Amino acid sequence: MRICVLGGGVVGIVTAYYLSRDGHDVTVIDQEAGPALETSFANGGQLSYSYVAPLADPSVIPKLPGWLLRPDSPLQFVPRFEPQQWRWLLRFLASCTLSASREATVQLLALGFYSRSLIHAIVREENIAFDYVRNGKLVLYRGAMGLEGAKRQMAFQATLGAEQEALSGQACVDLEPALAPLAGKLAGGIYTPSEDAGDCHKFTRGLAAVAAARGVTFVYGATVRDLLGAHGRVVAVRTTQGDVDADAFVVALGINSLDLLRPLGIKVPLYPINGYSLTLPVGPSHRPPRISITDTHNKVVYAPLGDRLRIAGMADITGLTSGPDARRLALLARQARETFPAGGDYDHAATWFGRRPATPTSKPVLGATAYPNLWLNVGHGSLGFTLACGSAKVVTDAIAGRPPAIPTGGFTWP
Ligand SMILES: Cc1cc2nc3c(=O)[nH]c(=O)nc-3n(C[C@H](O)[C@H](O)[C@H](O)COP(=O)(O)OP(=O)(O)OC[C@H]3O[C@@H](n4cnc5c(N)ncnc54)[C@H](O)[C@@H]3O)c2cc1C
Repeated sequence: MRICVLGGGVVGIVTAYYLSRDGHDVTVIDQEAGPALETSFANGGQLSYSYVAPLADPSVIPKLPGWLLRPDSPLQFVPRFEPQQWRWLLRFLASCTLSASREATVQLLALGFYSRSLIHAIVREENIAFDYVRNGKLVLYRGAMGLEGAKRQMAFQATLGAEQEALSGQACVDLEPALAPLAGKLAGGIYTPSEDAGDCHKFTRGLAAVAAARGVTFVYGATVRDLLGAHGRVVAVRTTQGDVDADAFVVALGINSLDLLRPLGIKVPLYPINGYSLTLPVGPSHRPPRISITDTHNKVVYAPLGDRLRIAGMADITGLTSGPDARRLALLARQARETFPAGGDYDHAATWFGRRPATPTSKPVLGATAYPNLWLNVGHGSLGFTLACGSAKVVTDAIAGRPPAIPTGGFTWP
């Protein structure tokens, strides 16, 4: 089949790779000059297969006022006259029940573990240099209550096959000596040895090169304006470089999928959650963490990427078209300096702003639509790098009519 993948972020490129392995004639269209130049460019770099529990959880509700009122809060909310924002928030709040959170955890863990096995196969087979490490991840808690909640989640996840360990504050510092500045301030942490890290942009660029060598065509600098339909099918896509026809289309346009799908009546509940990253050069005098770290107090993640340290954070629900805010980036830099003062060269940090394509349930939307030749691979929120491989394989199997390797009922549209 001739298949057109719309979007060359990590999700679109992995989809194109698996489709080409299935023998399809694949074309990728992206508005940028190359792959992964938008949300997949400088994300947190964590391949966090065991930390996929949804944001919507009963424990979030009592924390919301504190988060919204704290000036240095990791979460920022600016109300807008946007029906999408209010619909998204209402669905988010409706998903904050124990049963919804547990059900989503089961589904997302299965997708996370599946993605882990698939990315390990790509690492073995494709020889892509992307600063990949199997370094484990330590999630830190400064308060006893947060740690107790995390232990309950760990016990639940153990029943689903996650291998994690609870550590005391001192044991966290013993495991990761770069945490010495926080000694005495930590209640403890949850350690997951099986987590990985890597540079999402390098991974996507490398996999795009592999796909190109397999015959995938790339059309860059072409903005998709419309999907053109006839007789209940999509027949072509209208771009700024002309119309492109194909037998099937996969939408993987990140947050912009919202605008393209709406005219077709496909109202996927996507909303941007904005965030920032810093990438520090690391020299011999620096002491960065070697394990990936998540500091839950500030909601900041740290991942070692070769001779760099990636720091990412902030979750800002500030509008469909809102851009970067220098104060939020400065706050991220200050919190990172306090946590890892010797982590890298803060004066020469590369800065970045990205928009997570988030659904209220934290679950991506994968597979079929009412149009028999239009497929979705969207809504990966904070976990698009982690979940890209499993999601792409689920969509590729659906297009081939093969049964999926994991249960996919939780990810279907509508
Ligand atoms: C601060 C931050 C930290 C994060 N940390 C992590 C992490 O540690 N681990 C993790 O797993 N995930 C993380 N994420 C999430 C992850 O980055 C995203 O989920 C992922 O990049 C989404 O990939 P995508 O391919 O769906 O979207 P994108 O990467 O945005 O790809 C969409 C593509 O579509 C193209 N496009 C859009 N509109 C059009 C159009 N009209 N015409 C043509 N092309 C178009 C864009 O140019 C882009 O290339 C983080 C995100 C942020 C913001």
